[in-house]
Amino acid sequence: MPASRLTAMRSGSPGPVFSVVVPCYNEALGLEEFHRRLSVVMQGIGRSWEVVYVNDGSADETLACMVALRARDPHVALLNLSRNFGKEIALTAGLDHATGQAIVVIDADLQDPPEVIPRLVEVWDQGIDMVYAQRREREGETWVKKTTATLFYRLMQQLGGVRLPRNTGDFRLLSRRALDALLQLRETHRFMKGMFAWVGFPSQAVLYDRAPRHAGSSSWNYWRLWNLALEGITGFTLMPLKIATYLGLAVAVFAIVFGGQLIIRTLLFGNQVPGYPSLMAVILFLGGVQLMTLGVIGEYLGRVFNETKQRPLYLIERAAPSAISVTPREDLA
Ligand code: UDP
Ligand code: MG
Repeated sequence: MPASRLTAMRSGSPGPVFSVVVPCYNEALGLEEFHRRLSVVMQGIGRSWEVVYVNDGSADETLACMVALRARDPHVALLNLSRNFGKEIALTAGLDHATGQAIVVIDADLQDPPEVIPRLVEVWDQGIDMVYAQRREREGETWVKKTTATLFYRLMQQLGGVRLPRNTGDFRLLSRRALDALLQLRETHRFMKGMFAWVGFPSQAVLYDRAPRHAGSSSWNYWRLWNLALEGITGFTLMPLKIATYLGLAVAVFAIVFGGQLIIRTLLFGNQVPGYPSLMAVILFLGGVQLMTLGVIGEYLGRVFNETKQRPLYLIERAAPSAISVTPREDLA
């Protein structure tokens, strides 16, 4: 469904004050506990709210768990995607269906403590559109992950494009207008951290301590993180293409100088010992540079190819709104 139609639908419906969007992939073990903690926090705020659980093609009982939650709690909306689309897309699906005036994005694994939400709300109440939760510590994570994360943030910042806030995930609160702006970006390759930053609007950080996962295991491994980093870089900057160009140029200039020197030497002193090793070295080096450059171009071309297909971002198997979003009653708040 195009974002514009969703927006129109939304402005027509009253909707709750807060929508909490939670992408879930194999979270059956922890979802009950997550919902319990989230409910306590949201009830404490004392304004109307809903939670949109997105089942991203889980292989376990996540969907059944969501259905059970929705049966007994009018605050629960659920969205079941037709298969696993990945976190960024699952999140987008949830955001498309959020009806609130402010939208909270949070992970289901309790690494983002729901108890931080009231502090996000406090800042939003002061008129800030984008309140992002910033990690103070990264408990239970290896130094390799910490170092690679640091390197990545630095790289993204250096290459320009967007300035990503450090140690910040997707856990944040968005105002309705910031969300509507974000939903206008319908690209297939979604690097949400970068897109949040691209949207702009008055933003502010709230510091918190990130807990280790409550249950289940992280579905991120280094290969997926690497791909996410690639997504971030190729989605937001053309720098690698430029680097490839300059690298190619530098090698070509070197080759010309080297060749010229060879010609002059041959003219002055005649043909010396044929330099088989150096010849091989040059050929291999040039071949390598060419392949690498082609690879970089291929990364971008592949993305262009995917975007031109204009496929829908996700397919929905089942969507059930929360009772709150249909009839916002203050006694349910
Ligand atoms: N997630 C998802 N689809 C996926 C992978 C993850 O919806 O394909 C959800 C997952 O259920 C969790 C959130 O995205 O709520 C973050 O996932 P995870 O904890 O595995 O990532 P990490 O905390 O390591 O960034
Ligand atoms: Mg996690």
